[in-house]
Amino acid sequence: MFEVVIGLEVHVQLNTKSKLFCSCATSFAQLQNSNTCPVCLALPGALPVVNKEAVIKAMRFGYAIDADVNETSVFDRKSYFYPDSPMAYQITQFYKPILQNGKIKITADSGEEKIVTISEAHLEADAGKSMHEGSISKVDLNRAGTPLLEIVSAPDMRSSDEAVEYLKKLHSIVRYLDISDANMQEGSFRCDVNVSIRPKGQKEFGTRVEIKNINSFKFVKQAIEYEVERQIEAYEDGVYEEEIWQETRLFDSQKGETKSMRGKEDSADYRYFPDPDLRPLKVTQDMIEKAKEIPELPDQKVQRYTQELKLKKYDAEVITAQKELAQYFEELLECKIEPKNASTWLINELLGRLNKEGLDITQSKVSARVLGELISKIEDGTISGKGAKDVLDFMMENEQFDVNEIIEKLGLKQVSDDGAILAMIDEILAKNEDKVAEYKSGKEKLFGFFVGQVMKASRGSANPQKVNQLLKERLS
Ligand code: ADP
Ligand code: ZN
Ligand code: MG
Repeated sequence: MFEVVIGLEVHVQLNTKSKLFCSCATSFAQLQNSNTCPVCLALPGALPVVNKEAVIKAMRFGYAIDADVNETSVFDRKSYFYPDSPMAYQITQFYKPILQNGKIKITADSGEEKIVTISEAHLEADAGKSMHEGSISKVDLNRAGTPLLEIVSAPDMRSSDEAVEYLKKLHSIVRYLDISDANMQEGSFRCDVNVSIRPKGQKEFGTRVEIKNINSFKFVKQAIEYEVERQIEAYEDGVYEEEIWQETRLFDSQKGETKSMRGKEDSADYRYFPDPDLRPLKVTQDMIEKAKEIPELPDQKVQRYTQELKLKKYDAEVITAQKELAQYFEELLECKIEPKNASTWLINELLGRLNKEGLDITQSKVSARVLGELISKIEDGTISGKGAKDVLDFMMENEQFDVNEIIEKLGLKQVSDDGAILAMIDEILAKNEDKVAEYKSGKEKLFGFFVGQVMKASRGSANPQKVNQLLKERLS
């Protein structure tokens, strides 16, 4: 039996207005190489100046995950040459990163809570982009110098599921903090996965392999599972030493396989040294205060939803996993409806329908205000739960959102008027005198029969609670 060991390195592109060391805009969709200046083009003599906004965003992440935010950190040069990086080195933080020792809470495979340690997170400048067109290659440096926060976890995950749990939690925190768009497809949340195996009980870690280029949660899971199998097979075939070595592999999502890209450089290869153009980064009181402006985060929301609103933990976790979903839920509550109803209708009914169409909450045409109004119509007895589902279906199909109009149009209004219901009850009881007698002599099961008959007589429009209540009165 083997144990899987996983550590992740995530590059989060910070959503600052300007680049990390110059005032060029970070926005995309511009003319190639237009967002450049002597600093990010690495022209001789140009000097970098660190962007405070990026530092504050990194610090905010640090406070959010209860990390040590270093008062002083240092920028280092990581030497390597690649055409998309004109500096021949990358400015990063190697010896003294801005953040260390953070904690991210996940649900482990056992179902218990587990803390994943963030060993460090550091600021660094992104590279540009190479584009290959037939026999020529072009370089676009618009992205060069964009701020990244590289978040490095300890090797704390023990399965592909735990790795995905961790990534989702990290993604969600970063989005709540609004420090990054964190779009995996667009590359603003990029993750490298380190995977190794070891026989259960062995103390030392096995040889780790790094997998790059994975741009969805699903692919992270697939890549890990493929890689684990490859390593276990090598172990069982007695060729672990020969076949598994510290290298960088790429995930091919078409084939669902990882393949060798290059040997992993040792840190010595990069000849790290403090960048002489940049003084040590000292955070000021003013920056600390700004960085501590932190919104309510998913873990805190789960606690509030379960304790104050009495939601089930699972439901609270579903709702808070995505910032926009939690926002939607909180808008629903503003309609003065029961939190439990809001949660059930959001998760089971609305999300269920959206999922079927491959949409997420941000694409919902049914606004929180409209769904809230619909739910309140169930709560006040105007329509039944079943009727409300019909209304929601109608909305999604017809893109009409006037709750009252749809209830009218579909004839879903429940009869709650005592007189009307009593009239139906009396008619049913009169028609079934024998059963009434049986009921009164103790056959209480027949109560359901009477309810059914009344509901049928009303063609489902009678308010069932009212029917129950009035029937009880009549039969007692
Ligand atoms: P390097 O200095 O070579 O970048 P690190 O110690 O910084 O190596 O680790 C990089 C990443 O690899 C971290 O996320 C860490 O958790 C992970 N890692 C380290 N050793 C292992 C291992 N044996 N198995 C799986 N992941 C590992
Ligand atoms: Zn620039
Ligand atoms: Mg490292």
